[in-house]
Amino acid sequence: MSETRNVIILGTGCAGLTAAIYTARADLKPLVFAGLMPGGLLTTTSIVENFPGFPEGIDGYELMTRMQQQAERFGAEIKYGPVESVDFSKKPFTVVADGEEITAKAIIIATGAGHKHLGIESERLLDKKGVTYCATCDGALPMFRNQPLVVVGGGDSAIEEALYLTRFASKVHLVHRRDALRASRIMQERALSHEKIQMEWNSVVDEIHDVQQDCVTGVRLKDTLTGATRELPCAGVFVAIGLAPNTAVFQGHIALSPEGYVELHGGTRTSVEGVFACGDVADHVYRQAITAAGTGCAAAIEAERYLAD
Ligand code: NAP
Repeated sequence: MSETRNVIILGTGCAGLTAAIYTARADLKPLVFAGLMPGGLLTTTSIVENFPGFPEGIDGYELMTRMQQQAERFGAEIKYGPVESVDFSKKPFTVVADGEEITAKAIIIATGAGHKHLGIESERLLDKKGVTYCATCDGALPMFRNQPLVVVGGGDSAIEEALYLTRFASKVHLVHRRDALRASRIMQERALSHEKIQMEWNSVVDEIHDVQQDCVTGVRLKDTLTGATRELPCAGVFVAIGLAPNTAVFQGHIALSPEGYVELHGGTRTSVEGVFACGDVADHVYRQAITAAGTGCAAAIEAERYLAD
């Protein structure tokens, strides 16, 4: 087995990479696992307009690439591939990745959150065949060009997806289960005033067609007030109904909330001494790039103090 590391960081989103920058500058030589989505969810957004320091906005992928370069410049070592299991029951802690067991004195969990699913069978069967969770990744595909598209959700993500898709689609139907959006005011105004975006209020996607044809041809919408259903033709369904924390691998190893978020006990401390958590994996309230970066910094400082003690 390799030498015990000072600190292992799990995740390379805003939280993980900020923790990497801070622990690397503290000369702790962090080992950072990038997980299934290197750079985290921000790499799938287009322009990030609210990260301080970029008055014109910055491309999400570029922001994360720069953060990684900054962490590596100070000596952070990045490894790719998902973490298979952890053992926090004894010290040093063990992390198994790619079949290799690595031990560390401290762990920082920054595995973030993933996209929630609608949970209907046709969504699963038509995944990547017209059903997608990322407009910036898939929106420009030929199958979606000059076609009507459906976006599901009423938060900032759904609006961002809908606005992005107006570049390619003939029309974007924004399907929301209530009659008021959850998104921030500025995003709401942009969506509601856009000529290509049509609101489908008080509606949920009940069924996605057409599993027989193995591609998306439309959706059945159900009115949440009356229960009435209607058909809406479309070439793609972009699901943007929020996030679920990536904590499956920690189940039974640290305390999680009923929704699966890491429970914090003051600052970024988890239920296991020496294991810290930051970013969206422990935050169901703010979930912003800048708050993730902030808690990543806090986790690094707390880990550094823990190791010094
Ligand atoms: P969110 O704010 O939790 O919104 C999820 C939306 O999906 C809500 O409108 C919700 O409806 C709806 N929804 C949830 N489950 C559903 C279901 N099963 N069926 C139909 N609709 C469902 O999630 P988000 O939009 O992904 O945003 C996550 C966080 O990232 C937020 O804090 C957001 O501010 C942030 N963010 C910010 C930006 C930005 O600043 N530009 C961009 C993207 C994301 P209800 O409203 O009825 O609950």
